[in-house]
Amino acid sequence: MTDDPFESGSEIPEFLPWMPDEHFMKLALDQAICAWDIDEVPVGCVIAKNGRVIAAAFNQREMLRDPTAHAEMLAITQAAESVGDWRLEGCRMYVTLEPCPMCAGAILLARIPELVYGATDPKAGAIQSLYQLTSDSRLNHQVAVRGGVLATACGDILTTFFQEKRRAGKK
Ligand code: ZN
Repeated sequence: MTDDPFESGSEIPEFLPWMPDEHFMKLALDQAICAWDIDEVPVGCVIAKNGRVIAAAFNQREMLRDPTAHAEMLAITQAAESVGDWRLEGCRMYVTLEPCPMCAGAILLARIPELVYGATDPKAGAIQSLYQLTSDSRLNHQVAVRGGVLATACGDILTTFFQEKRRAGKK
């Protein structure tokens, strides 16, 4: 199926069947708000399969005191439990921020075929910004990517969070 918009790696694809990506990105944003509620950097992630959410998580690095507790990592573990397989075939990940190198690596290892993200991360993004791990043809798996979905909302929640942090720090 050469006309599958998600088949060819890093290009921004045409739209797909299922619910609109924006619908699932709003759910990921809800997760980011949950992170903010407990004073974690607000990044949220959901994974859907056949149009159904099978995992939803937010960044819990502080709460779990775990540098690997990014939203994507927690969601991948949940999704693998849900499908009963480490291979997350047929799944699409939605995350509010462009994944870092660790999470991009986990996405590849889980063989997630499709990734949709919100805001780009020029400082740590490993999908399109700093590295292009998920479209590197030297690796044995590539991921179809769509970036910039609800990017303003996804980015604003982070900007506002850090602004408030700085303001609180000055008091
Ligand atoms: Zn990460």
